[in-house]
Amino acid sequence: MAAPKLGNCPKCRKLYLRIREICDDCYQKQDEDYLKVAVYLREYPGTTIQVLSDETAVSIAQIRHFIMIGRIIMGNFPNLSYPCETCGNMIKTGRTCSSCRDTIQQLTAKIEQEDSSHDRDIAGGYITKYLK
Ligand SMILES: [Zn+2]
Ligand SMILES: [Zn+2]
Repeated sequence: MAAPKLGNCPKCRKLYLRIREICDDCYQKQDEDYLKVAVYLREYPGTTIQVLSDETAVSIAQIRHFIMIGRIIMGNFPNLSYPCETCGNMIKTGRTCSSCRDTIQQLTAKIEQEDSSHDRDIAGGYITKYLK
């Protein structure tokens, strides 16, 4: 295993030893935030993310992160939804809303199509030339 390296914390930019994604201070803060959110949700399972954020002073982005890593289980809270990663529409599953997913799928398909039509030939020819 590689030794932990120094890096800048993505949240507060502080230099820290990278044993986790964020520095100790931010990690502790995040844990406190999680507790606040969890306590509020236990009392008001019918809350929305906006009220939850206002009442706990935890940002919607942070709450969304807790949902994404599975610390908040969406199924338990009927009114909880969070913004789509791409357009900000409120959603209940996945990272993006269904219309953004469609757009991404279409774009990916288009790129793959273009890849197979001419890019591959060029790349293939390029590589074989060097292999000879
Ligand atoms: Zn930090
Ligand atoms: Zn979207």
